[in-house]
Amino acid sequence: MTTIAYVNGTYEKIENAKVSIMDRGLLFADGVYEVAGVYNGVIIDNESHILRLQRSLNEIKLILPIKLDELFLVQKKLIEINKLKEGTLYFHVTRGIGQSREFEFPEDQSPSLIMFVHHKQIMDLPLYRLKAKVMTLPDLRWKRRDIKSIALLPQVLAKQVAHENNCNEVWMYEDGFITEGGSSNAFIIKNNKLISRKNNEKILSGTTRQAVLKLLELEGLSFDERPFTIEEAYNADEAFYTSASVFVMPVISIDNKVINNGMPGKLTLKLRNLYENFAKSSIKKEK
Ligand code: PMP
Repeated sequence: MTTIAYVNGTYEKIENAKVSIMDRGLLFADGVYEVAGVYNGVIIDNESHILRLQRSLNEIKLILPIKLDELFLVQKKLIEINKLKEGTLYFHVTRGIGQSREFEFPEDQSPSLIMFVHHKQIMDLPLYRLKAKVMTLPDLRWKRRDIKSIALLPQVLAKQVAHENNCNEVWMYEDGFITEGGSSNAFIIKNNKLISRKNNEKILSGTTRQAVLKLLELEGLSFDERPFTIEEAYNADEAFYTSASVFVMPVISIDNKVINNGMPGKLTLKLRNLYENFAKSSIKKEK
């Protein structure tokens, strides 16, 4: 089935969906994006994604080119015409077309909004797909990682190295501490305590991370909000990473050092289960 994409007010077959070569997203990575999970045709935790998008837009002094209500309608329509039951929805806003390749903002800004979907199983994955291998690499990114910028070259390069080393995700480090995953937030569990660094400009505030931390509180599990070292990660009882497309992903090795005998951890699976239930109940409310 052909995928239909949304490009600035029109719906096009993905192979025909195009933006200008003068789009500042292409020339400067001057834009921000979101990826949300979709289940039963409903966006999981859309509110958190929209809030983060608005924050990112605000930080780079960009305005959403359509009203929020319209954005919701576009999201809904795109999911419907693509018959998307389960997968992800990608959307980004760039500063649009500039007359020339000037760094400064164009006088009359006309931001560009594009959106497309990806069919993929994200819920109720079998156990064999819940065994992620992680590789650590230096964090080469800029200093405003709280902005969900479309400038992803450091992650592209790092994730490629991880892939070449048979790993599913990279955990980036800086000053001896893990910052986060290439496209996820990183967690370890030691002595029944969850450890993950706090949100600031060094990492992206993950929507899944936020939801998991709330669920953790409800379950009365303890949380140590602090950075952890690579060595601590090697010696963790359990490890996992979170994102809107993988939910809570158990880690079974870090730099080939086996975690929890190569099996998804008990507490990790419990958190995954809690998150899946949260996702299912949040979409019921939307329907
Ligand atoms: N950190 C980074 C660098 C990411 O790219 C992502 C995925 N967008 C996350 C964390 C996780 O965020 P979320 O849970 O909202 O998908």
